[in-house]
Amino acid sequence: MKLTLLTGKTYDISEAVGMDIKVIQSPTARRLTLRIDSKTRTPVLSVPRFCSRKHAIKFVEENMDWIVRSLSKIPEQKYFSDGEQISLFGEILTICHCPHERGGVWRKDNFLCVSGGAEFIHRRIKDYIKNLCRQKFLELSRVKAAQINRHIHSISIKDTKSRWGSCSSLNNINYNWRIALAPAEAINYLIAHEVAHLEHPDHSKQFWDCVGLLNPDWKHGHDWLKKHGKTLYMYK
Ligand SMILES: [Zn+2]
Repeated sequence: MKLTLLTGKTYDISEAVGMDIKVIQSPTARRLTLRIDSKTRTPVLSVPRFCSRKHAIKFVEENMDWIVRSLSKIPEQKYFSDGEQISLFGEILTICHCPHERGGVWRKDNFLCVSGGAEFIHRRIKDYIKNLCRQKFLELSRVKAAQINRHIHSISIKDTKSRWGSCSSLNNINYNWRIALAPAEAINYLIAHEVAHLEHPDHSKQFWDCVGLLNPDWKHGHDWLKKHGKTLYMYK
């Protein structure tokens, strides 16, 4: 068997296996190992110092089922695109790319029009939604807070992929911009949840009673988020 010395250089096997694979040479590795880089959705193959390209290809081919299965478990990244239908604060809108017009992003009937190059569609729509969130969440939160004689100091719009909202003791509420894409009942539930925290910092029975007072239909929104919330996190 011919062995290839890999010191200082590595080889490319992507074409041979029909999939992007990153090959890393590890001087300490005793055997071939595969892992998935979830951020780039790329399989990474660590190879020991003396390992032929042919052997590496064979190893990847033998583990192809595992690679495909592992990749399918990583949520895909989604970008807003021309012709896509989205739900924005409960309204169904179609994204319409108008490359020759000016004006950034604007509403026209049930269309959300976006000007400029196709490569900017996602960022422009996202910025538009975040701005809308600042205004809408403050408005909607203040209405609910007034029901329990509370005042919202300010709200912030976040871009994390870990939580939908949070509430601080200083009457500030944080919301994740992606929640704007959920059905109205889920948005209403989340607002009721965060506003109820102004009164109860915990998740006690009194807290849930308060959520029920602010949004009698909260269970539907709660269940929707639990079941489908993850799909909103796909948006980059
Ligand atoms: Zn909570």
